[in-house]
Amino acid sequence: MLFGAHVRQSGGLGKAIERGESAGCDVIQVFTQSPRQWRPTSRDVDELAALAARRRSSSCLRDWVCHATYLINLGSTDEAVCARSAACLTENLRVASALDAASLIVHVGSHLGAGLEPRLPAIADAIGAALEAVPAGSDLLLENTAGAGGTIGRTFEELALVIDAAGGSERLGVCLDSQHLWAAGIDFSTPAQMDAVIDGLNAAVGLSRLRCLHLNDSKVPLGAHRDRHANLGEGWIGEDGLASFLGHPAVQRLPAVLEMEGYGGDGADKADLDAARLIHAAGLELYA
Ligand SMILES: [Zn+2]
Ligand SMILES: [Zn+2]
Repeated sequence: MLFGAHVRQSGGLGKAIERGESAGCDVIQVFTQSPRQWRPTSRDVDELAALAARRRSSSCLRDWVCHATYLINLGSTDEAVCARSAACLTENLRVASALDAASLIVHVGSHLGAGLEPRLPAIADAIGAALEAVPAGSDLLLENTAGAGGTIGRTFEELALVIDAAGGSERLGVCLDSQHLWAAGIDFSTPAQMDAVIDGLNAAVGLSRLRCLHLNDSKVPLGAHRDRHANLGEGWIGEDGLASFLGHPAVQRLPAVLEMEGYGGDGADKADLDAARLIHAAGLELYA
């Protein structure tokens, strides 16, 4: 399993790569552009290519993934927001692909109470357009959600509906976040429960679409429907529950990315990654 973290990128992506290397990451996650602005970060093709080469030549980073802008809401009932989100998604996918990132991870958004079904055609169009505009680029991974306020992706069935509506391209996959799963009310803290989670995911979208893990503990209890990450072992899931998540045979080929303040308060760092690797080792024992 590859371990890594979402790293800070003040000073630029070159700095982010250095931070990931000094934390001992095998993989890092970065934002393709400022996560709370629509405006793309201005970087030309040569700069992106140089960053891709820099990452490839890293002694420890075997891959990287990008996280899309938080403002994107493909499910919005407001047409202007939908159009803006679709354009932003394409731009994010263009940058991730130019960086040679394995994938771009996106939150589909919220239907704001309208229900998923009526929003599906617009969501499918936006995803289809992004894949078509950036052919043969990064995979596009839809992240499961904590289930707050009509967010799309609280169940694997919802993610399957979106993937199918968008045409089921091989490049469409799923990023599974342990905190979101927990907050959505899906318990995985024993191997039997994690087996059921994997079976459910396989039945809905197919295991081959599971391409990344977000490994986070939870500041809120099971089913609280809030997206609140905690440091490993400092939340409601706890080390044993996270071990059950990480040790499952079906997830061993995946990168696991930490997204948290970290024990040092400045983002997940070496100590957090050490903890993740220890939890993973304990998890493997659970399934041995
Ligand atoms: Zn996440
Ligand atoms: Zn989250």
